[in-house]
Amino acid sequence: MHELGITQNIVAIVAEHARGRTVVRVVLEVGALAGVMPDAILFCFDVVAEGTPLQGAALEIRRIEARGRCRDCGTEFTQDTLFTPCSCGSHDVERLTGHELRIKEYELHLASEATPQTAQERPYADGLPAQGERDV
Ligand SMILES: [Zn+2]
Repeated sequence: MHELGITQNIVAIVAEHARGRTVVRVVLEVGALAGVMPDAILFCFDVVAEGTPLQGAALEIRRIEARGRCRDCGTEFTQDTLFTPCSCGSHDVERLTGHELRIKEYELHLASEATPQTAQERPYADGLPAQGERDV
């Protein structure tokens, strides 16, 4: 289950940026073709977060559908799998969305402020292959 390793990376990245402050919420974007199971990440998160600044934080996973654009006819459509062809029959499809795996934002609890601070989007999967095997 490579989701365990992915979850460990997510927790490590956010914990590093939190610099000792308590993290109250993490938002993760997961594309339909990212090759990870959101339920498995949710399952791992509480255990992995234990003893870190993320302990007790809420993990929100936003699923992103896979969309492609046909290079033959220009149609944009939703893909259920990597190999879903265009309605015109073409398999020459440009990937638009679906491989996302990134930390969208996280909220820190700041003792000196009344409201939590939300950090900016941070890509997680930079440098990883766009598709195929993904050893995180
Ligand atoms: Zn087409």
